[in-house]
Amino acid sequence: MDLRLSDEQQMIQETVRKIMEEKVAPRATEIDEKAELPMDVVELFQENQIFSLVAPQEYGGLDGQLLTLCVAIEEVSRVCGSSSMILGNQSLGAGPIVLWGNEAQKDKYLPGIAAGEIMASFALTEPNAGSDVGGIQAKAVLKGNSYIINGNKCFITHADIADVFTVFAKVAVDGKDKITAFLVDAKTPGISIGKKERKMGLRGSSTCSMNFEEVEVPAENMLGNIGDGYRIALDCLDKGRIMTGSMAVGIAQGAMEAAIDFATTRYQFGQPISDNQGIQFMLADMATEIEVARAMIRTAAWNHDNHTPDMVKFSAMSKLYATDMVMRATTDAVQIMGGYGYCKDYPVERMMRDAKIFAIFEGANQIQRLVVARSLLK
Ligand SMILES: Cc1cc2nc3c(=O)[nH]c(=O)nc-3n(C[C@H](O)[C@H](O)[C@H](O)COP(=O)(O)OP(=O)(O)OC[C@H]3O[C@@H](n4cnc5c(N)ncnc54)[C@H](O)[C@@H]3O)c2cc1C
Repeated sequence: MDLRLSDEQQMIQETVRKIMEEKVAPRATEIDEKAELPMDVVELFQENQIFSLVAPQEYGGLDGQLLTLCVAIEEVSRVCGSSSMILGNQSLGAGPIVLWGNEAQKDKYLPGIAAGEIMASFALTEPNAGSDVGGIQAKAVLKGNSYIINGNKCFITHADIADVFTVFAKVAVDGKDKITAFLVDAKTPGISIGKKERKMGLRGSSTCSMNFEEVEVPAENMLGNIGDGYRIALDCLDKGRIMTGSMAVGIAQGAMEAAIDFATTRYQFGQPISDNQGIQFMLADMATEIEVARAMIRTAAWNHDNHTPDMVKFSAMSKLYATDMVMRATTDAVQIMGGYGYCKDYPVERMMRDAKIFAIFEGANQIQRLVVARSLLK
């Protein structure tokens, strides 16, 4: 396994970093405070072909490598967690089509998703089914050549701007409910977007509830077959978890850089606070844990790109480690910056708030531990 970045990956890393520092860093505080999805960042990603990272080459994507996407996402979240959700959610939304779509479905959606002309979202969670995916209650019933979907979803990222959703619903076959995934165009009558959550962090990323009332979806929009939905959801989450981990690494990196800048220029007792070993040890631990997490994410992405049997375990382990790590790193960054770290003039209080969600979504970290333990004990 060679985890060194190729020349092209390094070029993408540098390009995304430059764009983020020039165009988004000056807006990051405002994006958080306004708590509105920054459509100018969506346009920026469109103009710079950044969405091409989420699709395979043959459908307008760049190289189709999860590793490349993770490298780019890290650069986005290093500056702005909310903006990293724009790219991350486009990848999560594209996932079911990339991994399970037939040729017609891929041809219809992926080039537009890669261009950022079609925004995609992933609608799995329901008010009574979060970690327990099998507990979803949305129903799809066959009527002629269509399925009629009824149900409620919650916490759906960017539902308010999505053009297409993968919706998970149960189809009854011989008295058994089978989770099934459908591609649903957002303009289909019967879909309504409900409450937009007011969140602790990632406030520039919208999170909405959705209602499906008699929503008619052509049968050809089914992904895979009846009953494949559970497998589709898990396959997408296995991929999404690695990406989530890379968002966490980026935020931790941004927080550490801010803490170093501060520690070397803040004087107390006649010397920079960075001259104190107590501060140096916090920075050293932070840097070490960030490198461990980055290496785990790249290992997991390599396993995903190479379809190895260890992919599921590495995906869960890397998400678990990176997303617990980012909470420690951002908390310590605030600590190093003292009262200034706690205030909004510096980015680390935003980063600490943004960091919390990563241990919750794409499968809470308790669930990641179950996945890792199962892979050890099977
Ligand atoms: C900002 C945000 C964006 C999101 N985006 C999306 C999206 O785009 N699409 C989508 O479908 N969903 C999305 N979600 C939903 C997210 O995936 C769920 O919140 C997550 O899976 C956890 O589900 P829950 O919130 O219902 O918590 P619960 O499942 O109720 O869990 C509550 C707590 O119990 C723990 N727990 C549950 N079961 C076990 C167990 N067996 N053993 C030990 N502990 C357990 C959990 O780890 C957690 O700590 C989003 C959520 C948020 C907050």
